[in-house]
Amino acid sequence: MPPRVRPVRGWRAATVAGTARESASARSIRLAVDGWPGHVAGQHIDVRLTAEDGYQATRSFSLSSAPGEAPQITVERVDDGEVSPYLVDVATDGDALEVMGPVGGYFVWQPGDDVPLLLLAGGSGIAPMRAIWRAARAHGTPVRLVYSARTADRVIFADELRSPNGPESTVHLTRERAAGFEHGRLRAEQLSALLRPGGVREPRLRAYVSGPTAFVEEAARGLIGAGLDADSLRTERFG
Ligand SMILES: Cc1cc2nc3c(=O)[nH]c(=O)nc-3n(C[C@H](O)[C@H](O)[C@H](O)COP(=O)(O)OP(=O)(O)OC[C@H]3O[C@@H](n4cnc5c(N)ncnc54)[C@H](O)[C@@H]3O)c2cc1C
Repeated sequence: MPPRVRPVRGWRAATVAGTARESASARSIRLAVDGWPGHVAGQHIDVRLTAEDGYQATRSFSLSSAPGEAPQITVERVDDGEVSPYLVDVATDGDALEVMGPVGGYFVWQPGDDVPLLLLAGGSGIAPMRAIWRAARAHGTPVRLVYSARTADRVIFADELRSPNGPESTVHLTRERAAGFEHGRLRAEQLSALLRPGGVREPRLRAYVSGPTAFVEEAARGLIGAGLDADSLRTERFG
C-alpha cells in the first residue's frame, strides 16, 4: 500500500503571523510559511532559528492547528532551555525563522481512520492532540482526551477544553489540587477503565500518547498492561 503521507523536504522561509498566550508557560505561534503544502493532524515541523552571529538552533514542534488551518505550533517554556523561552516570551509578529516539514506519517490521524480515539497528553503533548481532536471531531469520530498538567495555570487550551467544541476530556493536575480537576498521575485502574467505556471493552479503540518521554513510557506501559493491543497504540516522545 503506498504511504498516505508524503514526506516534504527542505527548509522554507517563515514568519511569525500571530501569537496567543495559552497558559502561564505556553504560547501558540501562528506561522506564515512560503509554499506551505498543508499538513495532516499529528504531524510536526522542525523550526530553525538563526542568530545575528550565524549561530543556529533547531527543534521539533507539533502542529496544533487542524489540517486546512494555518500552521501553528504551541510551545511550553523549558526554563533552562535554549529555544523554547525565546518562542514563548520573545518572538513577535514578523520575526523570521525557517521550517522543515510537515514531518511524520505514524503519529497521525486522517479521515478514514474511523475508530474511537483515546488521547493521552502530558504537558505540551497536548499540541498535536488539538490537531487530532479538531480533525477527528469534524468527521464525527468519537474522541476522549485525558490530559496531565502540573498545575491549573499550566493547562493549555483550557478554554477550548471547556467549550462544546472541545473533546470529552478529563484533566489531571500532578502538583496541586483544584476544583474541576482530577489529582495525581494516571493510575492503572483509570487506564483500564478508559479502554472500557461504559464497562465494555472497546475492541476498535486507538490510543495516541504524547509528551515528555517519562510520561509517554509510563502511560504506554499502563495501556498495554490494561490490555491494549500494541498495534492500536501510537506514541510521540518530546524528550
Ligand atoms: C516530535 C517532537 C515534537 C515536539 N513538539 C513539541 C510541542 O508541540 N511543544 C513543545 O513545547 N515542545 C515540543 N517538543 C520539544 C521541543 O522540541 C524542545 O525539546 C523543547 O521546546 C525544549 O527545547 P529548548 O531548546 O528550550 O531546551 P534545550 O536547550 O534543548 O534543553 C534544556 C534542558 O531541558 C531538558 N528538556 C528538553 N526538552 C524538554 C521537554 N520537552 N520537557 C522537559 N525538559 C526538557 C533538556 O534535557 C535540558 O536539560 C517536541 C519534540 C519532538 C521530538
